[in-house]
Amino acid sequence: MKDLECPNCGGSSPSIISEGEFRCTFCDTLYYNEAMQQRKRAAEKQAARIKIEEAKQQVHVEQARTVNNMSKRILLFVSIFLLIIFGFVGYMAKQSLDQSAKSQEELIKSFQPH
Ligand SMILES: [Zn+2]
Repeated sequence: MKDLECPNCGGSSPSIISEGEFRCTFCDTLYYNEAMQQRKRAAEKQAARIKIEEAKQQVHVEQARTVNNMSKRILLFVSIFLLIIFGFVGYMAKQSLDQSAKSQEELIKSFQPH
């Protein structure tokens, strides 16, 4: 346990305050183990990085969901639009057919002797 040796008195049975942070039980000196502290910091950084990644992924999921909803809405809108267009075109075609039938009838009528 050379890592945990007190720099003041050389005592090697400190009480652990936190990871990499010790208090000597003999002379009450507070000291740190740089390597352990670095590991701790690295672990904290890693945890923070994972959290950020998770947050980013959450945003991506959220965005994907929004895009999906949007494309569904667009699809619905387009199909309604197409229905209206086809309905309108069909209606107009029928109207013009009726119209031409009527005018043909009138034309025939006008040729017929009264
Ligand atoms: Zn000490």
